[in-house]
Amino acid sequence: MNVDSLDADILIFGAGGAGLLAAVHAHDRNPRLKIVIVVKGLMGQSGCTRMVQGGYNAVLSPADSLQMHFEDTLKGGAYLNDQELAWTLVEDAPTRLLELENRLGCLFDRSDDGTIHQKPFAGQSFNRTVHRGDLTGIEIMSNLRDYVLEEDITVLEDARGLDLLSSGDRVAGALVLDIRTGTFLVVRSKATLIATGGGATMYRISSPSLEKSGDGMAMAWRAGAAFMDMEMVQFHPTGLLVGRSIATGGLLEEGLRGAGARLFNGQHDRYMARYDPARMERATRDVVSRSSYLEIMAGRGTEHGGVLIDASHLGEEFLLTNFPGMVERCQTHGFDLLHGPVDVSPSAHYQMGGLEIDVNCHTNLEALFAAGEDAAGVHGANRLGGNGVADSIVYGARAGDRMADYVTTAKLSDVSAAQVRALAGKWSSSLDRNQGESAFALRDELESLMWDKVGIVRHEHGLEEALAELGTLAERTRHMKTSGDLAFNLEWGEAINLANLTIVAEMVTRSALYRRESRGAHYRSDMPASNPQWLKRIRVVSDDHGGMTLSDVPIAFTRVTPPELSTAQA
Ligand SMILES: Cc1cc2nc3c(=O)[nH]c(=O)nc-3n(C[C@H](O)[C@H](O)[C@H](O)COP(=O)(O)OP(=O)(O)OC[C@H]3O[C@@H](n4cnc5c(N)ncnc54)[C@H](O)[C@@H]3O)c2cc1C
Repeated sequence: MNVDSLDADILIFGAGGAGLLAAVHAHDRNPRLKIVIVVKGLMGQSGCTRMVQGGYNAVLSPADSLQMHFEDTLKGGAYLNDQELAWTLVEDAPTRLLELENRLGCLFDRSDDGTIHQKPFAGQSFNRTVHRGDLTGIEIMSNLRDYVLEEDITVLEDARGLDLLSSGDRVAGALVLDIRTGTFLVVRSKATLIATGGGATMYRISSPSLEKSGDGMAMAWRAGAAFMDMEMVQFHPTGLLVGRSIATGGLLEEGLRGAGARLFNGQHDRYMARYDPARMERATRDVVSRSSYLEIMAGRGTEHGGVLIDASHLGEEFLLTNFPGMVERCQTHGFDLLHGPVDVSPSAHYQMGGLEIDVNCHTNLEALFAAGEDAAGVHGANRLGGNGVADSIVYGARAGDRMADYVTTAKLSDVSAAQVRALAGKWSSSLDRNQGESAFALRDELESLMWDKVGIVRHEHGLEEALAELGTLAERTRHMKTSGDLAFNLEWGEAINLANLTIVAEMVTRSALYRRESRGAHYRSDMPASNPQWLKRIRVVSDDHGGMTLSDVPIAFTRVTPPELSTAQA
């Protein structure tokens, strides 16, 4: 077995907003650092930052305030947020936004007076979402990519992290697979960043880019990292329905509903009037997704198993000016957003939960950092539209700054050859088997299981069944068979994805069972109300045998006391 090696000061997994901002900031802080970015696809083309449609939340107007943005974020998060992480997001977001424009070359839309245009997004008390049309992510990622290419930063594209390597109690690097050649690579590093963007793709209908499969979270889990808020998975209300195509789940952005698009069930009833008559389609994502899901489950969906979004009354000119990307996306799949309704479904979109971090992105493991969607705490029980990309940019930058400082006193550690051989052998074992189940079929099973039993509406019985089924599924994945060899092997890649997703899925399911209430994105039909006693976060750590131990952790309400707590105490 071929194993190459490479040394780095800083090793970054993921080239989305978080990974690239970390590289930019670490490089700026100390241009002599050897920075290695490992990305599962192509830099600038992979991950979800590129897919950002709506935009980036930042306080720029004197009529807005950090306190307002902060309180919107807490309210959206049902007060489960780590308040220091949420405050840091709000506080750093404007500076980082201006850095994107003034230093990294992004150009955002302007108002007539020349100031940066900011549009409304659900759950916000002020229009603070900065955007470039409805294709903001492409603007950000293209410029970040150009910057990284111009600097002395090593980028390993079409490469994936497999496992972190430990030396004593610190993370000392990682085992990486060059997907094109099938070569294993040991990268020793003084600091390592996990920024692989979560694993909401564990659900049958989902919006994130397909290469994201919870890899970073699973790698960190196997290394002993602690996780928080894993029950919190956000479903976006309007994912396209295009049969078995990979385009199913791809989003029609929230701004459409903000601008007045309406939702109808299969019987042409504008059902939001029954669920949230005051806010209608502008209700938060969790409310709209749940309402649509309940309509579909009650048999009032469309023939394709969805509901309908209709923006045609907004007029051709308005839609073409404001949502050209959405119009085109619909056209590509044979839908006419300009003139009629389009079939949509709730779509698994974003994981609020992830690795436990502090404001400098340090995890509970020495030399391991996490940022962006892989990290927990900023968004609490529900993320506001526009806060996701801000999170990646803000915390990516903080991780880069902190890691650059951290490595000045850190040293490279030796990694054991036996550890490397064992891991490489474990990952390639499915290729050596003559029989076993197919990764593709098992992936379908996982997605259906998570959609049906750990999805938008959860119930104790379903969650218990899901946990048992996940146990069996994990065992079956250990005996999968994949054909072909190590080089560019999609089936083998899927087997690795699946092994990682089942770990993340188990954390989500266990945490969903543990939280005995409904809050934010987590809805239990057997416990539909929120309970102030559950204003605490759920932590998952591994026990001595690699099993999952859950506990609840009090929240430090350092800046704002949740209204429900004040009411409960009064
Ligand atoms: C369709 C869509 C629209 C969105 N619109 C908005 C919006 O308008 N506003 C907003 O705030 N948020 C939006 N979001 C959410 C936003 O995209 C995310 O919050 C944010 O981009 C996540 O950034 P990240 O850097 O953590 O991860 P990503 O940008 O997703 O990057 C993850 C990176 O990790 C890489 N990777 C994965 N596994 C591995 C591995 N094993 N080894 C190496 N690399 C790996 C991937 O290839 C990718 O480069 C949207 C999301 C989607 C899906």
